[in-house]
Amino acid sequence: MNIAIGNDWQNWSGSVTAQPQLISHPKHLDQLSTTIKSAPGPIRIAGTGHSFTPLVKSQGTILSLDYFSGIVSHDSDKLQARIGAGTKIGALTRLLYDINQALPNMGDIDKQAFGGGLGTATHGSGVTLGAYHTQLTAMQIVDGQGKIREFDRATDSDAMDAMGASLGAFGAITEVTIQNMANYRLRRRRWAEPVKDVLDQFDKRMAAHRSAEFYYIPFSGQALFLASDITEAPAGTRPPTEDDDALGTLRKLRTCLQRFPWLRRKLIGSAIARLPKEDYVGEWLNVYASERNVKFNEMEYHLPFEEGAAVLHQIIRLLEEKFPHVYFPIEVRVVAPDNIWLSPFYKRASCSIAIHHDAREDPQPYFKAAETIFRAHGGRPHWGKMHNLKAKELSALYPRWADAMAVRRDMDPGNRFVSPYLADLLGIDL
Ligand SMILES: Cc1cc2nc3c(=O)[nH]c(=O)nc-3n(C[C@H](O)[C@H](O)[C@H](O)COP(=O)(O)OP(=O)(O)OC[C@H]3O[C@@H](n4cnc5c(N)ncnc54)[C@H](O)[C@@H]3O)c2cc1C
Repeated sequence: MNIAIGNDWQNWSGSVTAQPQLISHPKHLDQLSTTIKSAPGPIRIAGTGHSFTPLVKSQGTILSLDYFSGIVSHDSDKLQARIGAGTKIGALTRLLYDINQALPNMGDIDKQAFGGGLGTATHGSGVTLGAYHTQLTAMQIVDGQGKIREFDRATDSDAMDAMGASLGAFGAITEVTIQNMANYRLRRRRWAEPVKDVLDQFDKRMAAHRSAEFYYIPFSGQALFLASDITEAPAGTRPPTEDDDALGTLRKLRTCLQRFPWLRRKLIGSAIARLPKEDYVGEWLNVYASERNVKFNEMEYHLPFEEGAAVLHQIIRLLEEKFPHVYFPIEVRVVAPDNIWLSPFYKRASCSIAIHHDAREDPQPYFKAAETIFRAHGGRPHWGKMHNLKAKELSALYPRWADAMAVRRDMDPGNRFVSPYLADLLGIDL
């Protein structure tokens, strides 16, 4: 869990705080079942609190599944592993590596619980690579009546599709079976180039690598492009991460040069263009994720892939013309379509655009203005990142919404997992 002092809880960025009556860490299934039946409601399940939305907030009980961790069993032929849903992704990668299994893709950090990643459709980048929930083949979940239920894709494909992106709304996921691949190495390259060149050939550029993504650096005209491809070459040394230093520099330039945008553009542009290219080979688990020490708040919308380049143009213009105090880069990724009913990637190849804001300042004016653009292009918000949508708007974005809600009612007829935030989000009368 993220931060718990006494009974106070807060998320990673500090944007959500809660004072639940109880923070519970059940050690086994019986205890978990009893807690769900009898603890003060609403009951919200926490991963590590890395969501920016109040999904975990509760005045009743916050439930941590930290004890449901590790590899329960594995199948070396099928390359599948049964894992505790409370396992932190970083720890999971090391456990999997030791049994020659690998996650096909990862997001920017590895601090989340795997169950938390499933909770919000957490994803990395790559036109052929899906979010974590696309690895699911089976799950064990304790429902709102404290009953332990098992589902398997082979026999319960509807239930798996309904609960794959779970929002913690169906029950406490205790174990999942995931389809992995054999260990592999990645060649990771990073270089700067004019963003115009990337956007002119967006489709081709994003499909040219197994994993491709880029950051637009505000006021620079430059994109930092990151590409990863599987290689047989031996692993080398990963260069030190520059995240904190680079953000510190961008912040200083913002503060000194806010009134001289042309000078700011010139200085940032030439600094970015001079950044050394990065090119190294690493084992998969040492390549995808990095540290994020500077606190920010974030909004990310998943757009139809073909809208990506046009929307990014508009977001860049918005930032540079209306919000010159923003210095965080804009992150652009691509995600493969899937069949999970509440997945923002449901049946659609997606381009994800993420905008960030210093956690010490109010992000809403910038985020709300950007949200208007994202929504005008059919964007679906990341469940774990700031957005202002409620059930009415969300249900129109998800063709299987009503079916997912029917499964939710079956799993939690007494609304034990429904907080006021969830009631608004999912359209549930409390
Ligand atoms: C620095 C940073 C970097 C990030 N990078 C990325 C990224 O690259 N890609 C991306 O897609 N997102 C990213 N995110 C968002 C983050 O991955 C998601 O918000 C994720 O859900 C957080 O996982 P968590 O373990 O902290 O879960 P929490 O935020 O604690 O919970 C998220 C949801 O999952 C539910 N949940 C958790 N565990 C269970 C369980 N066992 N059973 C049922 N429900 C459960 C909760 O109830 C809640 O609804 C990032 C966030 C931060 C702060």
